[in-house]
Amino acid sequence: MKYNFGAGPGILPHEVLKQAAEAVIDFNRTGLSLLEISHRSPEFEAVLDEAVSLVKELFGVPEGYSVLFLQGGASTQFALAPYNLLPEGGKAAYLESGVWANKALKEAKFFGDVEVVATSKESNFTYIPKDYTIPADAAYFHITSNNTIYGTQMQEFPKSPIPLVCDMSSDIFSRTVNVADFGLIYAGAQKNMGPAGVTLVIVKDDLLGKTGRKIPAMLNYQVQIEGGSMYNTPPCFAIYVSMLTLKWLKAKGGVPAIEVENNEKAKALYAEIDINPLFKAVAKDEDRSRMNVCFVAENPEHEKPFLKLCDEKGIVGLKGHRSVGGFRASIYNALPLSSVNVLIDTMQEFAEKNK
Ligand SMILES: *Cc1c(COP(=O)(O)O)cnc(C)c1O
Repeated sequence: MKYNFGAGPGILPHEVLKQAAEAVIDFNRTGLSLLEISHRSPEFEAVLDEAVSLVKELFGVPEGYSVLFLQGGASTQFALAPYNLLPEGGKAAYLESGVWANKALKEAKFFGDVEVVATSKESNFTYIPKDYTIPADAAYFHITSNNTIYGTQMQEFPKSPIPLVCDMSSDIFSRTVNVADFGLIYAGAQKNMGPAGVTLVIVKDDLLGKTGRKIPAMLNYQVQIEGGSMYNTPPCFAIYVSMLTLKWLKAKGGVPAIEVENNEKAKALYAEIDINPLFKAVAKDEDRSRMNVCFVAENPEHEKPFLKLCDEKGIVGLKGHRSVGGFRASIYNALPLSSVNVLIDTMQEFAEKNK
């Protein structure tokens, strides 16, 4: 038994893994593997339909929005968002709150002007910039709801005069969100929704078709909407496992219920980091992420022995991103409070040994 705090691909519920393993051998007693049936078969169409309706139900997606399951990860959406939403000769606004945000705005520069309204780069992204004006003449304002590498998270979303575009890769389905406040939401699945290989896109239909540019079919949201995410062969297995994870979430009481659990987990872990003399948190208090908890050892020499103790306890995936160092505990939806408590106990044991 391992306690998986990895940042991504992240932990999935054990029962989901078991169901997925079964489906690889014999999918719904068809005598065929899920991996060898047609994506146009009624059996798979039912999977995709259920995945879409679970997203709509669990996230409260209103009328006038489309749900897509695409490939290429969130990184492809960095380009597809401007490709589909930024008119020729137009401008887009970006909040630079981390490396992912930076990569997103770099891609947008291929398609038009980019205005970076604020950045926290000078502090290595330990906080979310807050005092800025969103230019009303831009096509959209791009934000990153949770900065996976630095452990910062937007606690509130900005009131924007222009459509909000949000990279929610690492906190989608972790808390309730008013989808109607957004023009486009996208998320690589492998942090909080399913396995790598599928990317969720939720887009407001009436924003599309206004750029004046020709867009290749696979990269065109409108074509993907018309094809029901099946313009070509979709990532069937990744969609299936995402559907199972969403079903698991629904059975747990949906997003409001998991949000309560996520808050409890984060609260307990930050409380230990704050009280334990050997560790300190990285992110500014008010911006602390409830998904990726980043912290460092007060004494850098404690880093290796602490990771070694964690390893002995079965705690894996705790090493921080190379650009921040220290530790990062990713406490995604599927990670239970009991695992957080194992980490807390280990931190206390380590402090006891190093008094
Ligand atoms: C992981 C991550 C990405 C990159 O996702 P890919 O699916 O690997 O392209 C982008 N944004 C955020 C916030 C992430 O956490």
